[in-house]
Amino acid sequence: MALLQGALRLNLLANRRNFFKLTSFVGVRSLSENVSSKPVTSSSPEVAGDHVIYTQEHFALKESLRKLIDQEINPYVEQWEAEGKFPAHKVFKILGSAGFLGVNRPTEYGGLGLDFSYSVAVAEELGHIRCGGIPMAIGVQTDMATPALARFGTAELNKEFLLPTIMGDKVACLGVSEPGAGSDVSSIKTKAVRKGDEYVINGGKLWITNGAQADWMCLLANTSDGPPHRNKSLICLPMNLPGVHVARKIDKIGMWSSDTAEVFFDDVRVPCKNIIGEEGMGFTYQMLQFQEERLFAVAILPTMDTIIQETIQYTRQRKIFNQPVLYHQAVHFRLAELQTEVELLRSLLYQATGRVIRQRGNNVFYSILFYSISLSPLARELSDGCLQYWGGMGFTRDVLVSRFYRDSRLISIGGGADEVMLGIICKYMDTLPRK
Ligand SMILES: Cc1cc2nc3c(=O)[nH]c(=O)nc-3n(C[C@H](O)[C@H](O)[C@H](O)COP(=O)(O)OP(=O)(O)OC[C@H]3O[C@@H](n4cnc5c(N)ncnc54)[C@H](O)[C@@H]3O)c2cc1C
Repeated sequence: MALLQGALRLNLLANRRNFFKLTSFVGVRSLSENVSSKPVTSSSPEVAGDHVIYTQEHFALKESLRKLIDQEINPYVEQWEAEGKFPAHKVFKILGSAGFLGVNRPTEYGGLGLDFSYSVAVAEELGHIRCGGIPMAIGVQTDMATPALARFGTAELNKEFLLPTIMGDKVACLGVSEPGAGSDVSSIKTKAVRKGDEYVINGGKLWITNGAQADWMCLLANTSDGPPHRNKSLICLPMNLPGVHVARKIDKIGMWSSDTAEVFFDDVRVPCKNIIGEEGMGFTYQMLQFQEERLFAVAILPTMDTIIQETIQYTRQRKIFNQPVLYHQAVHFRLAELQTEVELLRSLLYQATGRVIRQRGNNVFYSILFYSISLSPLARELSDGCLQYWGGMGFTRDVLVSRFYRDSRLISIGGGADEVMLGIICKYMDTLPRK
């Protein structure tokens, strides 16, 4: 057994070496010098072919990541899904060494210093991983637990937490939701009470992705008794401190390879210098952090393409009533409708991304909202619609479509339920009933 493991490790190292050869050929890290400060516009000569926002560099980055996914992740997905956990430290180290965990983060903290469109390109490529759990866990590391730290954290804090997270040496998690507070973030109960130069933390968090493996948590806690939108702070909390208890790994209907934990804090003492930005600004920082999280869900688009393609392949060879399932007009028309909706959503994504990198005021937030609210119904429609055409096979664990059916259901719930997002759009439209 030890011999076998040794051989596997050697094999893995050899594969990684090949990968690094490839990335250095493509020049992943040097991309930051070439393109980071240049605005990307649809008329830019750098934009590749007829693509709206991606340049040749975006495609090179995507190609490097795709090779890594095919060599280091996809071969193990079945095993990790069955085990209910993927080895986050191992996978993040591979991704971090190649620069994929900090694409738009500053180079001084190990990032590539590229603009947000490169993060979207990377997130899109992660959709080629054959499950939703691993892209989600990567998203927590890159776009959910770290944006506020990168933007508002001190240099000291960034060195201690951001740099090792981007390099893949530390696994991060985000602690916002609690047993009594999910959609209504302002009603969280976890408290961090200042005593001398420390905060003493009591309370608990629920649904924490990466929670069973994380080295630190970006924790949202009440640091005063003031109004609920001004009494919260984000704190970098090492998970190995006395009083941090990872109570249980939650059994879910989908996202199996991503561990989800419940965590309790019992008189946990953390230095006050671990606060991100200003005390009392945590709610605002978290709302900003949620925006990046929403665009990260782009990972689902390539998965949708794959599901449609695999459904076409299956229904083309599966015969009923003397002809392929696909030849029934109801089937090929429906698949055409679904593909059309995926393309519409992709256009909306690129439009939102373009606005993010050009910082077009409120339009930015607005188009992100439209994009994310369109994503959920399509994911549900597409996963249910395609699964139907697989018949009994679609009801087994053996096919990607059934995994997608389970995993994608989360999009309407996690990181802002559909109703919460609609509520925010209504606020912009000024259609909410006045109190
Ligand atoms: C697999 C998984 C991973 C997660 N990872 C994390 C994580 O890493 N960190 C973290 O902090 N949290 C995480 N979450 C928590 C997630 O963000 C919450 O589940 C989500 O915000 C919804 O909160 P809730 O579950 O408490 O539902 P509730 O807030 O109780 O809402 C229940 C339902 O009420 C409805 N609803 C909500 N608001 C409105 C409204 N205004 N009008 C009408 N109806 C409404 C919606 O249908 C909603 O689904 C995760 C959750 C899951 C399932």
